[in-house]
Order: sequence, then structure tokens, then C-alpha cells
Amino acid sequence: MKKSIALPLAGLALSPLFIMGALLVFIMLLVAVFGGTEQTSDFYSVEMSELAANEIPSEFIPHYKAAGEKYGVNWLLLASIHRQETNFSRNLAVSSAGALGHTQFMPCTFVGWSYPTCGGLGNAPIPESVLTSPGQIKNYGGYGVDANDDGKADPWDLEDAIHTMANYISQNLKGATEEEKMKNALFIYNQSDEYVQEVFTRFMTYSNGFVERKISAGALIAGDIAWPVPFTQRITSSYLDPNRNNHVGIDIASPGVNGTEIVAYMAGVVIKSEYHYKVLPSGKALGWGHYVRIDHGNELHTIYAHMIKPGIPAGTKVKVGQVIGYVGSTGKSTGPHLHFETLVNGKAVDPIPYLNKLIN
Ligand SMILES: [Zn+2]
Repeated sequence: MKKSIALPLAGLALSPLFIMGALLVFIMLLVAVFGGTEQTSDFYSVEMSELAANEIPSEFIPHYKAAGEKYGVNWLLLASIHRQETNFSRNLAVSSAGALGHTQFMPCTFVGWSYPTCGGLGNAPIPESVLTSPGQIKNYGGYGVDANDDGKADPWDLEDAIHTMANYISQNLKGATEEEKMKNALFIYNQSDEYVQEVFTRFMTYSNGFVERKISAGALIAGDIAWPVPFTQRITSSYLDPNRNNHVGIDIASPGVNGTEIVAYMAGVVIKSEYHYKVLPSGKALGWGHYVRIDHGNELHTIYAHMIKPGIPAGTKVKVGQVIGYVGSTGKSTGPHLHFETLVNGKAVDPIPYLNKLIN
């Protein structure tokens, strides 16, 4: 019986029409999967960076996306946690604290803290038949999820573990901004500031476009250009300042400027967001610290240096007046200020003519 059905199918599978049809379905699938990666909301983008594409095992991505969509959690955050917990399931040993499975849940968090022997850090001995039972988990108020519908919520099953992680994160997303919500949820996941910092930093590098798309409320904008530091218009060092060695930008600073917003001079694309500092053999130090470089098109670029922390990631499209970082004193700097450069065809030029409209 089987053979008589299989033979005509085999013939059909080789026919050009079938191959074309299959190809078409494949292309449509590709469009459905990859066309959907650029979901941008008003505030956030969840584009995957090149680093994310290189690091995240592609077979896990559908699970992150499904779980993220179901529980309202950015899927790249789920990938970042998974990376932190077990290096994408390459290290599945039970942790010293007793955390289990692909996403390292404490047994009590998985099955529910009202389980009779639960307490302390949550490493209670729980029989597997209870730990993985959706009914028992419901009873004890746990977070374990049976995502693959096999009747077991299994921390050792990848799909179940990723959904359980999304379930847990989603219930702890509390805060005023997306960043705050994620950081609070991460803190509850692992109770450590260092953990929050590590996972969130990875998330930032995975989600190239994850930035609060915030136009500074105080931005001084004239047409298509903005003054880079809303807090102050004071210039403390000019282009080619005679007292400085080859100072090819302007410095903007005033008391209290530390930590205040730096905004994009013009719409464009962030092409660099890096940390730069080095000490030469002579002992002389140089460096912009955390800096951002934006390409505005027409061979015009701008550089914003000495930011207090990393600015928005490379690859991000920005609008005029959009917050791209915060004033600091990283790199070679003697105090909080913005070092701002304008470059035409790669060569630094005096920024003042480009800011004239904004200077009284
Ligand atoms: Zn400077």
C-alpha cells in the first residue's frame, strides 16, 4: 500500500512544476520570517545586530520569537539571558545553587514556592513527576510551561525552558521605561546587579536598534539641525584652539553638564559607537572614551566624544535632536564635556559654520 502511494509522489516531487511550487513556498516562508524581524514600535526597534546573528544559534530563534510574542518580551532579551545562563545550552550542568535546565530555574520557581519543602534559595528536592507536572505547577503557583504540549513542563526541554523564562520575565516587567522594566525583571531573575548589567549590555549589543527613540525635550532645533548639548551652549575650547594640540573639534561644557543629554546634530545613521583610549609608549594618553559617529549623508559626519557610558549602538537610524548619549569625561578628558567634530569627506572642519543658525 505504502509503495503504491509513494511512487507517484516521488515522480511528482521531481517534476519541474512541483520544484517551482516548493521554491515559491520557501521564498514566501523566508519573507514571512525575515521580513518580520524589523518590527519597530514607536519607542523601540528589535533589529538583530550582526553580532547577534553570529552568536545566536539559528535553531533557537523561532522559540525565542514565539515565546517573546506570547508573553510580550523582546525576544533578543530572551536570547541574552539564555546566553548568560548556559551559553545557549552548551553548559547544562546543574549549577552550584541547584538551578536546572536550559535556562537555569530554581526548582521552587519552576514548580511554585507553595510546594511544601520550598524555601531559602529554592533548591528543594522535588520529584521529577511533580516538578514537570503542569497540574502540580498550577497548584503550587510555579512558572513552568509546557510549551510543546507533551504533557510535561520540562526545564530540560528547550521549548519549555524558553517559554518558562519568557513567562517569568513577563510577570516582572515593572517600571516606567522599557529599559527599567527589563532591568527589574533581570534583577528578579538572578538578584544581582552585576548579572543585570551583563545581560542588559549583551541585549544592547544584540539589538542594534534598541534605543529609546526619544527626541530631547530641551533640544534646540532649527529646521533640520540641532545643538548637540541641550543643557548648555557654552563653548569652552574652539576648533584649532591655539592652547591645544591639534584640537579639531569644539568642546561644549558648563557646570552641571555631567550626565545630561547629547543629541544628534542632524538625522542620520550611527556608524560607530565605541570606546577609545590608549596610552602611547611615550606615556601620552589619547582617546575619545565612549563616542558615537553619525553619517548624515552628503559626506557629512559628526562625532560626539567622552560620553559617560556607551552611546546608542552602531546601525541605529536617528532623527535630528534624538538623544544619542550622555555627557561624561571618559577617555582623555579633564572634566565632563562634549567634544564635537564635524567631518566633510572624512576630514575635520570647523563645526561653527554648521551650528551658526543655532548660535545667538
Ligand atoms: Zn575637544
